[in-house]
Amino acid sequence: MIKKQIGTIILSFLLILAVAGCSSDENNKTESNTSTAQTSDPSIPKLSTNEVHPPHLIRLYDTSQFSIIWNELIDTYYIACGMFFGFESDFLFNSDMRVDYQQTIEHFTPYRNHSFVQGLGRYLDIQNKYADMEVLYYLSQYIISVSNTGLGIGNIQSNIFQSDDEFYSFIVALYEFYQETDANVFFGSSNIHNDKRQYLLEYAKDVPIDDLINEMENYVGNKSVMYGSNNIYYYSMVSVYKSPNNASFRIFGMNNDIFMTSIQSPLGFDGDFSIAQLFETAQHEALHMYINSGIEVHSQLIQDLSKDKNPLDFTSGFYVYMPWHRIVDEAVVRVVQARIYGIVYDDLTFAYQQILSKEDQFGFQNIDGICHILEEYELNRAKYPTIDDYSTVLIERYLSNSP
Ligand SMILES: [Zn+2]
Repeated sequence: MIKKQIGTIILSFLLILAVAGCSSDENNKTESNTSTAQTSDPSIPKLSTNEVHPPHLIRLYDTSQFSIIWNELIDTYYIACGMFFGFESDFLFNSDMRVDYQQTIEHFTPYRNHSFVQGLGRYLDIQNKYADMEVLYYLSQYIISVSNTGLGIGNIQSNIFQSDDEFYSFIVALYEFYQETDANVFFGSSNIHNDKRQYLLEYAKDVPIDDLINEMENYVGNKSVMYGSNNIYYYSMVSVYKSPNNASFRIFGMNNDIFMTSIQSPLGFDGDFSIAQLFETAQHEALHMYINSGIEVHSQLIQDLSKDKNPLDFTSGFYVYMPWHRIVDEAVVRVVQARIYGIVYDDLTFAYQQILSKEDQFGFQNIDGICHILEEYELNRAKYPTIDDYSTVLIERYLSNSP
């Protein structure tokens, strides 16, 4: 089937969410980056291949705006990365998780010398012993695009994939590995995947997801400014093989729809399935999409206000290597989310406990202080229709509030 490019990649962010129990040595292992990739000419038809019939996107849970999704090919990529590192990595197959990876390891270990695994070095993150974020971005976009429209993606130019041909060669090799390892048979009988499905079936409805999304869009106020009248769908692409200690985000357009896709674990920091944390992470990543650009445009102001400041007086050790505007947006995202939870649950104490208490442990210094700065915004929405209209106040008061 001929597949042509239909999507425009708008932005991609690797957003480190939080690191539980992370030593300082581990803190600098994962790079945070912000990159922009453009695809420009939708008239160029892009070939997928005749050989690949990628497994469908599986929807584990849907509300009207939010979907928890997973895909066997993407899990197969995580597994292959785990195999490459001998299942020893801080971010994959974590041994301190409560879920049991043994069945997966036993099924796939006989294939550890498979040419796909042996040749994977270029397509993973050697330094951090992790999957490569760009591979995950493009894989996710490809799977979502094929599943939703029957069309592939194209005009790919990235650090990892220099061309569409390279991307599709990778897809063919991954798909062959998926077939030759009988991965689909494995996924059909996998306890860990059945447990995930059962858990979400039972508990996903316990979180008022649509209320939290509607309040988020209302709170930031800039959805139509940024994305016009396009429909926005929030997707969480989950994998049980991925650590809950980081997450990343991909936003892209398809026809008139915008897909905000978080790439994350369904596990909580305690290593067990957690719908509460799954959704918190998804919303955290979505908030970056609404908040970051309005902070970054004030980089000069941020630079002026922070020039004599020590990042460690503000943020987690995990974030100190990031530029100051990213340090600011990580704080703003957290407090905005706490206020949203406070409104939806009508209980600020609960919200601060739920969203912010763990951040104190991770080293955020004045996170409660910045929460109160938002009261003025909430009470004066006629003056501040969007969070961007309030960002200079937020920045000035946050950065002058050093303990
Ligand atoms: Zn973040």
